[in-house]
Amino acid sequence: MQFIDLAAQQQQRLADGRTLRQAIDARIAAVLDHGQYILGPEVVELEQRLAAYVGVEHCVAVASGTDALLIALMALGVQAGDEVITTPFSFIATAETIVLLGAVPVYVDIDPATYNLDPNLLEAAITPLTRAILPVSLYGQPADFDAINAIAGRHNLPVIEDGAQSFGASQHGQRSGGLSTIGTTSFFPSKPLGGYGDGGACFTGDGELAERMRRISRHGQSRRYFHTEVGINGRIDTLHAAIMLAKLELFEAEVEARSRIGAALSQRLQVAGIGSTPQLSPGNTSVYAQFTIQVDNRPAVQAALKEQGIPTAVHYPTLLCQQPALAGCGSCAKRCEQCCSCPVGQAASERVLSLPMHPYLNEAEQELIANALAKTVGSFAAHLSLN
Ligand SMILES: *Cc1c(COP(=O)(O)O)cnc(C)c1O
Repeated sequence: MQFIDLAAQQQQRLADGRTLRQAIDARIAAVLDHGQYILGPEVVELEQRLAAYVGVEHCVAVASGTDALLIALMALGVQAGDEVITTPFSFIATAETIVLLGAVPVYVDIDPATYNLDPNLLEAAITPLTRAILPVSLYGQPADFDAINAIAGRHNLPVIEDGAQSFGASQHGQRSGGLSTIGTTSFFPSKPLGGYGDGGACFTGDGELAERMRRISRHGQSRRYFHTEVGINGRIDTLHAAIMLAKLELFEAEVEARSRIGAALSQRLQVAGIGSTPQLSPGNTSVYAQFTIQVDNRPAVQAALKEQGIPTAVHYPTLLCQQPALAGCGSCAKRCEQCCSCPVGQAASERVLSLPMHPYLNEAEQELIANALAKTVGSFAAHLSLN
């Protein structure tokens, strides 16, 4: 069994009868024929298709999900000394990009049911130095943007959704990416809209912000060799945009499969006595970038599952505020205590376990996972009660 099966994907049939692999080969050949490897027509086409899918006016396709976050923060004017409120329970890129700009990540603990930033704790973290709020839509489910946007609005603060794991999910019918001032996502191969290399995108309904993000992703260039602001080389390759266009043809079906398989696996696990299956907030759908449960004695459970041929992973074993690279929260020494007082995130980091999950996980594999977990967790429970 594979944790994520990227090979199965290439053999899937598109609406026109071709396999995904055939569609990708044709798209790559077209780029090799026209030769516009930087900002070729596929980049514009991809941006239009992605914006339409998300339901926002503007999309800027970029080189990675990390660059998408960096470009969004730069476009909002985040600079040295500013504070950006975020979650401690995420991939390093979420806080790394804040620290790269000399700004200070201020961590707000997570909601125990969804693992996303707890809006009840948000307002108390806002100070005169706060410049933006950066919630993550973790494991494929949007953060609580109703509550977060309401608080941000009262304080006149922009909100960036880190949607690297939630592309394709929605909240009250609005797709992830279009839930706040700016939304970002990643095309890293294992993400819900994974590509075959690095890539990402920024989304916004604000035309000025979109132009600024576009400029920043292209060295701050406003016309050829004339640079009006400091930017980065953050463009997506034309070849990768071409691959993404082919993959988009399959995406709708994959989102549907992820949602269906996530619900089915949850049900099987609950029948097997595993209570900690993913919980969706009302109004949310999830693309299950990760299917994550909680267990006691995680290393032993992982070893037992591995023996039964089931790979697992931990997202994430260490809170961002405890990462050596970010320790002391960048420039701010006095906040250390406060930053790391995230008991809900701490408890989650010690107990979470991600199981195999992808759009081609079949029923036999789902059954195998449920049976193996029932056996493993059951035998530990029996062992504990004997002692
Ligand atoms: C993967 C990920 C990123 C970074 O995306 P890359 O494309 O790998 O740079 C940022 N935030 C979260 C939550 C992620 O999961």
